[in-house]
Amino acid sequence: MTVTYPVTPAGEKRCPQCGGHYAEAFFHRNKRVCIGCRQTASDARKQTREGRCAVKVRWAIQRHARHWGTTPLVLERVYGWRFPRLLDDALRVYATGCPVCGGRFGAMAGDLASLTLALVTASEPPYYPANVQWACSSCAHRRPSGRPPLDRVRLAL
Ligand SMILES: [Zn+2]
Ligand SMILES: [Zn+2]
Repeated sequence: MTVTYPVTPAGEKRCPQCGGHYAEAFFHRNKRVCIGCRQTASDARKQTREGRCAVKVRWAIQRHARHWGTTPLVLERVYGWRFPRLLDDALRVYATGCPVCGGRFGAMAGDLASLTLALVTASEPPYYPANVQWACSSCAHRRPSGRPPLDRVRLAL
């Protein structure tokens, strides 16, 4: 049974958040809230520290996967790079400072941009968190970088 709003013109839907009546095209499939409201909410999320950090974590996972010639799925399944765990650690390190030099991110020129995911030992596989940690970019760049040896057998998922 469909609920009809008497005030909603035919072919339009009412957004329960802003109360506006819009054509179906202004709603994503199966979403009750209009595209405008959803966009506003997503912008607000990106503005929070957690939102900006989440964007950064996703970006870091993709960048490392590409650089090492693997995929985010392999990093997650084989090497323990679970997004919620990485985000939790990133937020904690951002709040408490770089675990290597103790520097506070708020005092660094790049602020959140200085938070970097780096290998502890470049010649070891990238198991998280055993061999991968969040640090400030100057500490990360002082470390030998490169492609860690990936476990080829276990890569066959
Ligand atoms: Zn709306
Ligand atoms: Zn540091």
